[in-house]
Amino acid sequence: MDLTSHIRTIPHFPKRGIAFRDITPLLMDPAASDHCLQMLLERAADLKIDKVVAIESRGFFFGSMMANKLNAGFVPIRKPGKLPYAIEKEFYELEYGADSVEIHKDGINKGERILLHDDVLATGGTAKAACNLIQRLGGEIVQCNFIMELVELNGREKLNGFPVESLLSYP
Ligand code: IMP
Repeated sequence: MDLTSHIRTIPHFPKRGIAFRDITPLLMDPAASDHCLQMLLERAADLKIDKVVAIESRGFFFGSMMANKLNAGFVPIRKPGKLPYAIEKEFYELEYGADSVEIHKDGINKGERILLHDDVLATGGTAKAACNLIQRLGGEIVQCNFIMELVELNGREKLNGFPVESLLSYP
């Protein structure tokens, strides 16, 4: 099955010059979603994952499905101010300004084997900040796992040292 036919490209969203890769057509199709899930799981086979950590919000869909199938816990990383319990916070640079992500302090136990998941790897800033949070809590990042990668933005370089897997490559 060709997953790319279930990814829609929206020109000039959320701002002029950006081609937004939209996974909602994939989510609407159960056979395509299941195929995507199986491919993501194949990349994570035999890694003995304790927790799947996923990034708000589009990372939550397949992240929680993978956690269920891997018999692993699911831990959300969220934008500031959304998590109700004690948090760790990490700031990261944007083109203009800075943003931050948060995780619950008790989300990861020292030495746990972690699969990080998000829908898209672009510049890698968000995933790198997520990796920093995971490491601060003592997690071992076993794989950074994405549905797609925007290769021209070189996100992999920011994640150097961590195994990176993505199902699809876009310019
Ligand atoms: P980065 O920090 O530049 O790697 O951006 C990655 C974050 O932005 C992820 O959480 C993605 O969900 C989101 N993102 C960036 N580009 C796209 C896109 O084309 N489609 C969907 N999400 C995107």
